[in-house]
Amino acid sequence: MTLHIPKAELHLHMEGAATPDLVRMFAVRNNITLDAGLFDANDRYVWSNFTEFLNSFDGASRAICTRQDYADLTYSYLTEQAKIGALYVEIFCSPSHAAEAGLSFDDHLQGVADGIERAEKHSGIMGRIIMTCVRHMGPDLAVRVAQQSVDCGHPFVVGFGMGGNESLYSQEAFYQAYKIAADGGLGCTTHAGEVEGPQSVWDAIDKLPVTRIGHGVRSIEDPKLVETLAKRGIVLEVCPGSNIALSVYPDYAAHPLRRLYDAGVRVTLGSDDPPFFHTTLAAEYQRAQDVFGFDDAQLTGITRTALEASFVDVDTRARLLAKLDQLSGVVVHAG
Ligand SMILES: [Zn+2]
Repeated sequence: MTLHIPKAELHLHMEGAATPDLVRMFAVRNNITLDAGLFDANDRYVWSNFTEFLNSFDGASRAICTRQDYADLTYSYLTEQAKIGALYVEIFCSPSHAAEAGLSFDDHLQGVADGIERAEKHSGIMGRIIMTCVRHMGPDLAVRVAQQSVDCGHPFVVGFGMGGNESLYSQEAFYQAYKIAADGGLGCTTHAGEVEGPQSVWDAIDKLPVTRIGHGVRSIEDPKLVETLAKRGIVLEVCPGSNIALSVYPDYAAHPLRRLYDAGVRVTLGSDDPPFFHTTLAAEYQRAQDVFGFDDAQLTGITRTALEASFVDVDTRARLLAKLDQLSGVVVHAG
């Protein structure tokens, strides 16, 4: 079992963390009628291909509309992760999604920040925010999100990222947005090498000031890229459950997590949009052990990589790493 392993997560989309229970609660609270067939008889999100997944995601997101909803969603997710040994979670927050629900940048941010504060007080887990732009909404909107993310000066906003449809626009088209974010002191990551192949990862690491890649698993198709990632210490936010659910790989045997790790690439584990992909952070760690053969020390090392690659300030990172040392020390003594 991996329950005792201290964990950290760098790849989690806020709306994608909403369980059916929460979505129903928000819908009632906001007087919204959910789409028929959003959940199946076993209370799981219903979808069978990428387009249906996006529809399902949007259908659930429609119920999340207020600052209070974002606060409750954040609190709920973080306290659940604290129960399974997570020390730290970085959350992708999309102001553009919140805007579609009628929420301002500040209300959305304050909601998530309230949830983070409450969760830390109650369970000790630390959460931070990566503001994300949506690739298919284009570079102009991305520049605005980057500028707002820097200007807000909120201590919980530590990073800037990009999700959305990888096949639209080039990574380079978002250079200006990323430059604003990086110059403003935010850590940077982007989704690449998930749907698209290795070239998308090359584009990201050569054209944008990123130190991490969301997914990046298809880098395995290019040995030169794998070598470059290892050499440059670029960290991959790997989400195996998501990759299998979205058929990036047919099964876990074909998934390159272990091969990337063995080639010296720094990897972390994330759940992406957990209830949609019928996974959790705990399940990702457990699977890494059961299917990919990582032992306790290696899993703790993966958590260490996540903390080292996190976008928190130097002091906070040092505190988190000290906590990890202390907890993994306990594990060793407990034998
Ligand atoms: Zn993602």
